[in-house]
Amino acid sequence: MKQALIIGAGPAGISAALYLTRSREADVTVISSGSSALLKAEKIENYYGFAEPISGAELYENGLRAAARLGVRMLEGEVLGLQILPDMRFQADTTLGLQVYDAVMIATGSTRKAPKIEGLKSFEGKGVSYCAVCDAFFYRGKPVVVIGSGEYAAHEAAVLKATASSVTILTDGLPFTGSLPEGVSLSDTKIRCIEGERSVEAVVFEDGSRLETAGVFVAIGTAGSTDLAKKVGAVLDGNYIMVDRTMATSIPGLFAGGDCVGGLLQVAKAVSDGAVAALSITQFFRK
Ligand SMILES: Cc1cc2nc3c(=O)[nH]c(=O)nc-3n(C[C@H](O)[C@H](O)[C@H](O)COP(=O)(O)OP(=O)(O)OC[C@H]3O[C@@H](n4cnc5c(N)ncnc54)[C@H](O)[C@@H]3O)c2cc1C
Repeated sequence: MKQALIIGAGPAGISAALYLTRSREADVTVISSGSSALLKAEKIENYYGFAEPISGAELYENGLRAAARLGVRMLEGEVLGLQILPDMRFQADTTLGLQVYDAVMIATGSTRKAPKIEGLKSFEGKGVSYCAVCDAFFYRGKPVVVIGSGEYAAHEAAVLKATASSVTILTDGLPFTGSLPEGVSLSDTKIRCIEGERSVEAVVFEDGSRLETAGVFVAIGTAGSTDLAKKVGAVLDGNYIMVDRTMATSIPGLFAGGDCVGGLLQVAKAVSDGAVAALSITQFFRK
């Protein structure tokens, strides 16, 4: 039987594993370093099928359990490198050793970089967010800040502007390189810490000044986990992996889906990408 490797156990990877395993066309291995974006989501209330909000962690665990129930081989580890062998199969260099596969799907999510600012980590899910489109709803009519200095920060600020009472981009001492959306303020003062009782209340700057805020959105750099794709020469689209409508990359046998290919960075789209990729891998094996 053909060997398929899925890198990532978030919604995209698990969805692909479920479809591919049920097709009975492949022996499926999922490898995951265990850091899904879902684990940062305090509650999800925009995904089909849940009458009450579900925590990201619970949704993630449910996914793992569903895959295990179908007999998917689930490995905890990290893929460090990917190489195409002369017979066009893929060699994955992992923390568990070297393995060879007939097809690979990259479902590694996007890397959301976080600066080292006191209080940022401890307020995750309590006012600190990494996703404007996901959490803007919770800050309707309230002041928010976006930490970042480029186009990604500008994009998040533009999303938040529609619902928040005010939006300020904080570059934390860096020059701002994005295009500032109308009505959004900008500050380049260095940040000392995030303060609050039970949730975020203010950002305190190195010069001692304070900015009251209900939400801190982190948007450093641009999300994108393209290193593995780069290693086998797959074409990228900025910080995302370029795929066609079948989730195929520019390399035969290499597929990708979920946050790492860009577009809507949401569970619903990741699940769809995984299903499409699995059907494409099945067809690739039948050729
Ligand atoms: C704070 C927050 C709130 C959110 N709220 C919502 C919401 O309300 N609704 C919604 O629909 N979406 C929400 N999202 C977005 C949602 O979590 C993502 O869109 C979704 O998880 C993307 O799925 P994915 O499978 O592409 O990637 P991920 O879920 O990020 O999974 C990536 C997987 O790849 C693995 N991985 C990465 N690199 C490697 C490697 N080198 N080797 C092995 N494994 C690797 C990780 O361990 C993980 O298993 C939120 C995100 C955040 C951060």
